[in-house]
Amino acid sequence: MRIPIMAGNWKMNCDNEEAWQLAAAIADQVGDVQNCEMILCPPATALTTVLAAIEDTNIGLGAQNIFWEESGAYTGELSGPMLVSCGCEYVIIGHSERRGRFGAPDEDFTAELQKVFGDTDASVNRKIKAALSYELTPIVCVGELLSERQAGQTDEVVTSQVHAALDGLAADQIDLLVFAYEPVWAIGTGEVCDAGEANRVLGLIRSLLAEATSDSVAQEIRILYGGSVKPDNIVGLMQQPEIDGGLVGGAALQADSFGELISAAAASMG
Ligand code: PEP
Repeated sequence: MRIPIMAGNWKMNCDNEEAWQLAAAIADQVGDVQNCEMILCPPATALTTVLAAIEDTNIGLGAQNIFWEESGAYTGELSGPMLVSCGCEYVIIGHSERRGRFGAPDEDFTAELQKVFGDTDASVNRKIKAALSYELTPIVCVGELLSERQAGQTDEVVTSQVHAALDGLAADQIDLLVFAYEPVWAIGTGEVCDAGEANRVLGLIRSLLAEATSDSVAQEIRILYGGSVKPDNIVGLMQQPEIDGGLVGGAALQADSFGELISAAAASMG
């Protein structure tokens, strides 16, 4: 049975004081929960603060990005060894925002953002390989834009992002990945994907993982849903057989709501 994961992506929120308060409140509420793998992904500036707040709990620490080189002239980037030295065990890779693919785009602004957040399928693949080489668990994000869904291209987009992510990886490396299906139009919009449809796309991802490895390996890999996950929709999502938890933005920024998501995920284990 796959242990569910609930990962909070804090994005560019929380200074160190706020990060301490939030992480300490989450630790207080759910720090000893056992049937759910709990992960906090604060901004890089707050990694060590959050690490201190979750010490002696079952909560793990993740980063929001990684660069594949170990060190050097890469101003502003963070390497695997740096993340490991801050206590990270996980790293989010290829979030749609890092790919410059935003849900509610302002066209001029989006063009600028795409230059700054320049992840491509190729860089995502390099980052996955780097993370694995430092024993960080990659949480690999894939998902389609609204325009792609409306054009009937969801499966094609997701398939090509998954294939690119897996390029050059051996089965025993793929086995270590966590995937997150995050339809871009559902991120931060309050418009959650229909649970049955999310389950269908996760099933597609699992079948691609099975083709790349084997049925038994694919059955072990956790695949999360992300996009406006909230306490009022988590139970329906967790009832779906393919959904192994959530990658959560907005609802991860309040201890009460994140705690409710964790409790629901843990309860889904029966
Ligand atoms: C996310 O940041 O990956 C996300 C899914 O955000 P939200 O839960 O706010 O939609």
